[in-house]
Order: sequence, then C-alpha cells, then structure tokens
Amino acid sequence: MNRKIIDELKQQIPLLDYLQAHDWQPARSIRGGRLMGLCPLHTDHKPSFLVDPGQNLFYCYGCTRGGDVIRFAELYHQVKFTQAVALLREWCGVTPLLEEVTNFYRMQLSQHREAVAYLERRGLHVPEIIEHMRIGYAPGRCLRAWLNQLGFPLPAVRQAGLVDANGCDAYIHRIVFPLEGNLYGRSIQDSAPPHRFLPASKGGLYAWEQVRRFPEIILVEGLFDYAVLWQAGFHNVTCSLGNHLNARQFLQLCDGARTVYLAFDADTDGSGQQAAQQISRRLWAQGVSARRVSMPDGQDPNGFFVQGGDARQFQSLLEAAR
Ligand SMILES: [Zn+2]
Repeated sequence: MNRKIIDELKQQIPLLDYLQAHDWQPARSIRGGRLMGLCPLHTDHKPSFLVDPGQNLFYCYGCTRGGDVIRFAELYHQVKFTQAVALLREWCGVTPLLEEVTNFYRMQLSQHREAVAYLERRGLHVPEIIEHMRIGYAPGRCLRAWLNQLGFPLPAVRQAGLVDANGCDAYIHRIVFPLEGNLYGRSIQDSAPPHRFLPASKGGLYAWEQVRRFPEIILVEGLFDYAVLWQAGFHNVTCSLGNHLNARQFLQLCDGARTVYLAFDADTDGSGQQAAQQISRRLWAQGVSARRVSMPDGQDPNGFFVQGGDARQFQSLLEAAR
C-alpha cells in the first residue's frame, strides 16, 4: 500500500481522538503530556495503557502491545493491516458526518412533542438518560438541506445511507441513537418497520468501555431495555442490538473473567430465550459464566419497567437467574 496514503491517514486521525471515540478515557496524565488509562485491548484493572498524544503512539505495560493508530485499529477490531486502514479511512469520512447528524437530531427532539411522548411511553423519564445516550429524533425531510448547508457533499451523505437514491431522508419519524459508526432508528409509527440501521456494521456491544470493568454485566437485546435499566441504576448494562451477537461482540464478552446475565426478551415465539440459551452455552465453553434471566411471560426488560416493575424487583430476577 502507498506509503503516502498511510502517512496522511495517520495525520488525519490523532490517536487520542480515535481512542476517545471508542470510549477510552484517561485515568491520569503523566510527564510530557502523556496519559495513562485502562487498556482497551485486554482486561485491565489498573491503568497500564500509555498514550502519547504528541507522538500519536500507545504502549500497554499489561499486554506489552503498542504502536500507532493503525496498529491500535488492527488489535482493537481484530483485523489485518489493510482492513484496519480501510476501517480508518471510512471512519475519517463517516465520523464527522454522523457526529453532525447526531447533533442535528438531538436538537430536533425537544421540538417534537410526539417524540418526547413516545420516549415517555417507553419509560424514559429523566433527562439524564437522553443526555447519556445522546438520543435524538429524525422528523424526516430536513436532513439533506442541513448537511448540504454544512458543506457535506450529497454523494457522501447518500453513501453513508442517510438519504436514499432520490435524496429523501432515510430516517423518518424515528427516535435516533448514535452507535459506533452507525445510527439506530426506532420508528414511532406502527406503519413503518420498527428498526433501522445504516448499511454499516452495528459495531461492538453498546457503551462497552463503560461496562467492561464490572465483574457482573447485564446483556439486553434492545436500547430501550438498556435505557430503563440504566435509568433504574443498573449501570453495568450493555446491549447487543438484537438477539444475535456478531463476532466482535462475542469476543468482547469473553475478554475477561466476568458473569454475564442475559436478560433477553420472553417473546411468545421463544426466539429471545433460545438465543440466550445458545449464547450462554457458547460463553460457558469459553470459560465465561453466564446466567439467563427469566423475564415474566411475554416481557422484555423495557416492558417490565414500563408496566411498573422497579429496580428491587429486577434485582430479584437477577438473583433468581440460572
Ligand atoms: Zn493491554
């Protein structure tokens, strides 16, 4: 691969920006403007990951790995060099765009009563959760003009899947949650398909860097399940965005010693519980303890809280998990 492209890419992406975009936070700064924090590449209990923002280099005293942003992407996403470069190039183009879209949709939320009312119906009451998850609303028919005004060329916007071939917004009447390199949109209308993602990977587990230190983790299927649990004080919750885990999400669960509580939907066709059973077998095979939480009939964690369940009752479900 062309040396010049590689050098330009490294200049375009400061290592620290990339780390922070993947939820890494420094625990302390040391001499020379360098930073120490928990290592995102192995299970780390004391900060052993050193970042030099000036040199754009990292080194971990725990797993003894280090290098530049490309090396980091290789290790973090578990891909080969050329794939890491491709991911970073895509990230370069897509990240500023998705950041603007997220900000725009967040501004729309408070201006649309139907969106706020929908969040309330789904049990999201406190402003903290809206802030924490950076929830927005896509009313439709307005994104393209906004992005155009900010100078994003239409082909890039179209390629990201934000507008369709006719230039119409892809997300219409949807609550929008930013993910790592993607956006999840939940329709607030029954007439549209409920779930929508951009044509990119759904990424890793939701907010993984914030939960991976916990010895016990609750895994849920949906972001509305995540939201009510987080709101109820269960900050050790993460979400797989569906009951199928992609390879990266599964590896994340296996990257250290922990207990995973699978709080999947108790839907009538049994698909959530079947998926939970399968995942829990695979986790045990990797030496990770897993327990299945039996949700009351037909409920998911979101419905449980919306229908009056509280943190204490959910705690009892966790304690009863097998
Ligand atoms: Zn490490």
